[in-house]
Amino acid sequence: MPTYFKNIAWYPPAETKVPWHAIFSVFTSQSREFKYDLLRFLKVDHCVLGESARALLFKLLETLKKQNHSQRDEVLIPGYTCYSVAAAIVKAGLKINVYDLDPSTLYPDLDSLKSAVSEKTLAVVFQHLFGIFTPIYDIQKITCKFGAYLIEDAAQTLGTFGNGKAPGTIGDFGLFSFGRGKPLPVGGGGALVSDTNSEILDSISLDRPKMGYKQASLLAATQIISKPAFYWIPELLPFGLGKTVFDPGFTVEAIPNALEKILINALPSLNQLNGHRKCISDIYSKRLANKLLLGNINNSISLIRYPIMLLDSSMTKELNRIGVRNMYPSAISDVRVIKPYLKANHISTPGAVEISKRLLTLPTHIGINKKVAKQICIEIVNFVNSN
Ligand SMILES: *Cc1c(COP(=O)(O)O)cnc(C)c1O
Repeated sequence: MPTYFKNIAWYPPAETKVPWHAIFSVFTSQSREFKYDLLRFLKVDHCVLGESARALLFKLLETLKKQNHSQRDEVLIPGYTCYSVAAAIVKAGLKINVYDLDPSTLYPDLDSLKSAVSEKTLAVVFQHLFGIFTPIYDIQKITCKFGAYLIEDAAQTLGTFGNGKAPGTIGDFGLFSFGRGKPLPVGGGGALVSDTNSEILDSISLDRPKMGYKQASLLAATQIISKPAFYWIPELLPFGLGKTVFDPGFTVEAIPNALEKILINALPSLNQLNGHRKCISDIYSKRLANKLLLGNINNSISLIRYPIMLLDSSMTKELNRIGVRNMYPSAISDVRVIKPYLKANHISTPGAVEISKRLLTLPTHIGINKKVAKQICIEIVNFVNSN
């Protein structure tokens, strides 16, 4: 192995690249709204932007709850997902319920979904984890039967498949995030979209936004220090995937002005970012032994991280340095601080628990070139053989 790789290079786990001209656009006046660019890009009719996806999910759930006069007080979510999804439910004063995932695909386990859904279910959240496209048809049939809303969590995917509907625009509502580690990571911001429920989106009001200069400066700093040669700095600054914490105390503001300007100018670079991720994912798919791979791995616009399943996914320092990470440390129902908010007698989610123990994710971002990707494959194979 070349020494530069062994001793000096440090690879961040997630995408940090945003064009400099997009960042500098903070200083120019712009009358355009990002909302309209996003609507056109996703070919969807209605959209609200917020400071984060979780803020929008909270506002949406609060609105749906009022509308249903609190008859339905549960939100059904994947047993393995981002903890801020759970935080939004708790902030809206609703109960968390969980359904299981299939560890061989990361898709919903439909039997489990069927046994968890009921007349108490206000909404079902389903996700495209890492960007792997989750087929919606069977989930839609189940939620429809029980009169629950279907919320498509597309925080980890952004793009379009040729002529088909973009992920995030298929459910009753779709959720996108522009935070750290997401497909277009400007360091914050989120979008809630819908084709059919414009009255609900129109009724959502958010607190006044901040200017967002702090986030813009952090984004600029991240661009510089995420170069592999600055290997000692990234450890000191908060960037990468973002910590997986459960905190219902988040604020609910509109999108900061600076981030909106950056997003307008960064959206045109999305195709390039997605194309690069696809290319790196193809290297992983070709080089890693079949037994590590999920069967549906190529069913995506691009993967923000490349998931593999090992017997045991305990991390090593070496893997950490080349941008390999665990994702969420445990299944939702195993998180101590979330347990008090779970529906009593929720079903068990053994698939989600298995995912939390076996899943490892490889970086696919633009800072990883083909040579590094091949090196990462060698490290992974060595790691598997030594366990
Ligand atoms: C990041 C993420 C969210 C939350 O997005 P924020 O903008 O950070 O609030 C929700 N769901 C999934 C699957 C995510 O990855």
